Formats: sequence, C-alpha cells, structure tokens
Amino acid sequence: MDEILNRFYEVAADPYKSVEGWKRKTGKKVIGVFPMWIPEEIIHAADILPAVIWRGNEPVTEGHAHLPPFNCGLTRSFVDDAVRGKLDFMDGMVFYRMCLQAVVLRFIIERHAQPQPTYLEHLYLPPVFDRSPCLKEFLIEELETLQRGVEGLSGKEVTVDSLNRSIKIYNENRGLLRRLYQLRRAKPGLLKARDILVMVHSSMLMPKEEHSELLKGILGDLEKKEPPTLVKGAKRVIVSGCLCQTPSLDLLGLIEDSGMAIIDDDLYIGSRYFAIDTDVNGNPIEALADRYMKDEPVCPTKGEWQKNWGDYLIDMVKRNNADGVISLLVKYCPPHLCWYPAVREKLAEAGIPHILIEVEHEVTSLEPVKTRLASFVEIMTGRA
Ligand code: SF4
Repeated sequence: MDEILNRFYEVAADPYKSVEGWKRKTGKKVIGVFPMWIPEEIIHAADILPAVIWRGNEPVTEGHAHLPPFNCGLTRSFVDDAVRGKLDFMDGMVFYRMCLQAVVLRFIIERHAQPQPTYLEHLYLPPVFDRSPCLKEFLIEELETLQRGVEGLSGKEVTVDSLNRSIKIYNENRGLLRRLYQLRRAKPGLLKARDILVMVHSSMLMPKEEHSELLKGILGDLEKKEPPTLVKGAKRVIVSGCLCQTPSLDLLGLIEDSGMAIIDDDLYIGSRYFAIDTDVNGNPIEALADRYMKDEPVCPTKGEWQKNWGDYLIDMVKRNNADGVISLLVKYCPPHLCWYPAVREKLAEAGIPHILIEVEHEVTSLEPVKTRLASFVEIMTGRA
C-alpha cells in the first residue's frame, strides 16, 4: 500500500517530470487541459494524454508581466510556467470560457510562449441557464471542434467506439475514486486528507488506465484496514471551494491537527472531479454534452441558477452528519466570490457552523489560520 501511495505522491509532487517522463517513455502526445469541464475523454480517444493544468510550486516571476497580481494563483502560475518554457513538452493546450481570468489565457500563450504548442484551442462551453435544445446544439458543435482538433494533432480518427471506450475508462476511474470517498466516510481517519487529495490529483496527470489499476490495489488494502481511533471530540467537517486550484497540503494537515476530521469535500481536486459519470450510448459526443449540462455538482463557473450551491453543501453536511463547513476561497476567484454571499446565507439559515479561509499561491504563514481554526472548533463544540 505504501508503495502505491508513494507513486501517487511522486506524480503529484512534480507533474512536470512525471508527465514529460510519460511522454518520453511512450513517444505519445500530451495536451494540457484547463480545469474544470473540458471532456478529457475526447483527447484520450485520440490516443493523447490529457493532463489537467496544475499550479506550480514556485513563486510567480516572469508571469507578472502578463497578468495582474489580483489574478488567481492557478492562472498566474500557469502563465509563468508557460512563458518560462516549463511547459514546452506539451503538444497542445485547451482552454474554455470559464471565468474572467481564464478567458485570456489562450491569447497570452499565443503571443508570449515560445515555442508555441502545436495545437491551441479556446472552446466556448456555454453557461447553463436553461436546458434549451439550441444550447445543447451549440455545446455539441464546440465538442466536435475539439474532436477535429485532436484528430488533426494525433492523425487518429476518434470513432464512436473509441470514444465510448474512453468514456468507460474514465467512468471506471471515477467510480473507484467514489469508492475511496465512501471508505473515507465510513472510516474517518483511515487516510489523511493530504493522501486523498494526492490520489485525486495524480488521476488528473496519469493515464487513467494506470491510475485505476493502482487504485484497485490500494482500495483492496484499505478495505481490510481499521482506521486509527480519532482524537476524542474531533469535529467532522466538509471542506469546500478551492475552485480549480490545488489546496495546500499543509493547510489540510493543519485542519486535521486542529481537532477536525475531514470526512468529505466539495473541492475540484476532490469530489467535484469524479462526482458524475458520462452515459455510454450511440452518440458519445451528445452524452458528454449531457454530462456538462447536469446541475450537480453545482458549479459557479457554469452560471447555474436553478440549484443553489449552499443547498448542495447543506445536503452534503446532512448526508455526512458533519459538524461544520470550511470554505477555501482562492484569492481573487470571481465565480467563487460572486456565489459566496448566497452560500454563506444558506449555511447560516440552516444553522451550520462555517468558516471562510482565503488561500493564495504565494506561501504565507499558517499561524493566523491556526488561531481561527481553533476558534472554529470551539464554536462547533459549543453547539454540540
Ligand atoms: S474559476 Fe477561480 S480558480 Fe479557476 S481559473 Fe477562474 S479565477 Fe482561477
């Protein structure tokens, strides 16, 4: 089990090395895919590895010349990596209309990254304000644009069969990650939150087939294991937010060390990534469009107004018998900032203790956060 966990850590700790290493070993192509809703299956079906774009570990330097300091850490770190040539090994990059900060990325790469990736695409995956047929038709056209683009890059046709095969491979991986989360709920403390995050993050960087095989191995071991006894009085919490961006592993550790057990999460590099499957049917592009148009998990970048993110979180709290919610807000993420007041109001109305912690790319001291987390535990204890 430790061997498999170490492999997940190795991949997630240095994605530059692991993704480029995979490319060198296999001789195949890699496309960097911007979070959160680009259907990776289409790229996989063209025999190309889709690697979800990550936030680097280094401070932003040259990237400052291209993006303002109030952009989120992911966009600044990504542009910095691209203009410094750290992503040269990528054969392609795909972006989409997701938020104000992501919308310019393709143009920055086009002008300032040298050498240019062979394939650059900016899709317009539309906001989902309704389920009208014309919205779906438009979405399908965008997905077909991606299909043609990756076929051109790989020289391999994406057929109904190959795409359905990729969808099955992705669904299997999602199902295994959901099994991991079920285990975490049933046996809190079995794995640290940082281990779980790394297991999900590595899935975004490795071929799904290899990741699923490793997951099967570790799940078998975990299912037989008993969790350590939780610290007496440990509070059960849900961690939410951190759209697109990897939460700091140290922050997750601090939450656990402050007397809380993270029993579930509502993070992109977490349950949001694998929450829903794609149907396997005769028209896989349409099935991928249907997946995008689903309203769970509620996603502020899709402009979904029919379901409230706060209600979604309240359901999660109830299902998990949780004591409170910790929101991680990426500084200065517009979709999260816009939705946050409504989420906060809903949680307050439901009487659910809640704390907001702003996170940023640059390393800052966790000391002030430590004090706030300690107060949050006291608030939850006072309500018990
Ligand atoms: S949604 Fe938020 S975290 Fe994601 S790219 Fe936009 S600003 Fe950054």
